[in-house]
Amino acid sequence: MPVLAGRTAFVTGGASGIGRAIVDAYVREGAEVVIADRDAELAAKVSAQAGAAGHVAVDVSDETSVAAAVEAAMERLGRIDVLVNSAGILTEAPLVELDLRTWTETIAVDLTGVFLCCRHVVPHMIGRRWGRVINIASQLGIKGGHSLTHYAAAKAGVIGLTKSLALEVAEHNVLVNAIAPGPIETPLVAGITEEWKAAKRAELPLGRFGRPEEVAPTAVLLASEPGGNLYVGQTLGPNSGDVMP
Ligand code: NAD
Repeated sequence: MPVLAGRTAFVTGGASGIGRAIVDAYVREGAEVVIADRDAELAAKVSAQAGAAGHVAVDVSDETSVAAAVEAAMERLGRIDVLVNSAGILTEAPLVELDLRTWTETIAVDLTGVFLCCRHVVPHMIGRRWGRVINIASQLGIKGGHSLTHYAAAKAGVIGLTKSLALEVAEHNVLVNAIAPGPIETPLVAGITEEWKAAKRAELPLGRFGRPEEVAPTAVLLASEPGGNLYVGQTLGPNSGDVMP
């Protein structure tokens, strides 16, 4: 039997990259999924291709937009069992050249967006005494990254948020985890310099970037009944060389 049969999921950033691979995997495992993405056109296309329950347009950094998207998804799905926060942006700039606008936008989407989606979905999970939250952090949030202070700071924040929220809501059977991938071949990294990518590749045990489909199985595990229970509050790091707890 598919491990997510009968479950419903709200996947931010589900129109592309890692989020999209998670949507595909969740649908394959029997979940009904709503894709929540800023790119509504792509989300509609991916939703049809993946056989998802539908899509909603959202800007995760805007509370009004998040509230409306969650309400629309609740109407479509009846409830949200699993929240995946995968929406994210990345730009490259050394701190001494970083402008406040880029800093603020990165924190708003990559960190505040996770807070807002949790803030609007988790109360429903608490009410039903079942929920799984999976936040896509990054190895850069653990190790830091050259010319990525803004992004690394946001992702370190996501890890702190994840561990703290896990402590707050575990008693309600709402389990919260983060996945901290190493570099994954997606449109997000398309704009990064070849020099940076080559240096990264040289560090990786496989000698190549990961693929979105290689991250998705961890998100399935964390959404499942036994997997979620094993890893409450953990940050797992596929493709990173980290030892899984
Ligand atoms: P991607 O660019 O392929 O997908 C990101 C998706 O988020 C896009 O569909 C985009 O439209 C959406 N999005 C961006 N801003 C949004 C907003 N304000 N509101 C709603 N949706 C928004 O990127 P990806 O590589 O799949 O990244 C997914 C997550 O994984 C991100 O949080 C990213 O930081 C993280 N991550 C990526 C890598 C990597 O190397 N690709 C590594 C570690 C972590």
